[in-house]
Amino acid sequence: MFTGSCLCGDIAWQVDGPLTSIMHCHCSMCRKFHGSTYASFAMADPKDFQWIRGEDQAAEFASSDVVTREYCPRCGSAVASAPEGAPFAFMPLGNMAEDPDASSSTHIFVDSKAPWCQVPDGVTAHAGAPPEFGGGDGLEREDRSGRSPGKTAGSCLCGAVRYAYSGEPARMVNCHCSRCRRQLSAAFGTFIGVPHAAFEWLSGEDQIVNYKMPDAEFKGSAFCQKCGSQVPRRRDDTSTQIPAGSLDDDPGAKPASNIFVGSKAAWAHLDDGIANHESYPT
Ligand SMILES: [Zn+2]
Ligand SMILES: [Zn+2]
Ligand SMILES: [Zn+2]
Repeated sequence: MFTGSCLCGDIAWQVDGPLTSIMHCHCSMCRKFHGSTYASFAMADPKDFQWIRGEDQAAEFASSDVVTREYCPRCGSAVASAPEGAPFAFMPLGNMAEDPDASSSTHIFVDSKAPWCQVPDGVTAHAGAPPEFGGGDGLEREDRSGRSPGKTAGSCLCGAVRYAYSGEPARMVNCHCSRCRRQLSAAFGTFIGVPHAAFEWLSGEDQIVNYKMPDAEFKGSAFCQKCGSQVPRRRDDTSTQIPAGSLDDDPGAKPASNIFVGSKAAWAHLDDGIANHESYPT
């Protein structure tokens, strides 16, 4: 059995059977919605899928004519989707408590991958959609890069929330902790830290929902209430934490390390050539 839930726990589901297909999507829409380097999904037979709670609470955003994205309106995690009559139930893999066998998973839309992303060697990778969903070279997406000359800018999927920072990122890391995986509904979180003084909101700050985990000192999420995309969040008195998938411009940097690899998902790939830390580096 597999179980999944959003970061706050309001929405939860289970699968009493195998996960039939696992895909890692590098398209710019998934990257924005999740705020992650790429998004990972699993599918299951609808007869094996069951809601545990919160099925009526999910908010949704139609990111295209064919794709509707479901998320928790309290914490912003992506959640499962299992509409009546659909051929499969669909769920974000980063929210699952158990590790599935992902050895036959595929990477899709790799032509749209993030500039810092390393697609692992030896995996099955498709330029656009997988062949069973029509194949192709990828989709034309709205290109929002270069809108803030001299700065590095980002935005949510619907475009309401926009931000920019100046200068080089103070830090960029991949975090594999279970809370980041649930927050971004992804294999791991890639975050850029910048000083408050270098960061500015360009629009939509009033659209942002901030969620803080009740038992955590800092941990939580910030997301656009219109589209559910993860957006930057004030980390502490000095720095703002940016989910790198929301960037429209190339930050010109790569993650310097993987942190909390002691709690990584078994199926998550670790980028080559960067430092690994069991927990938080001292
Ligand atoms: Zn939630
Ligand atoms: Zn995608
Ligand atoms: Zn939005």
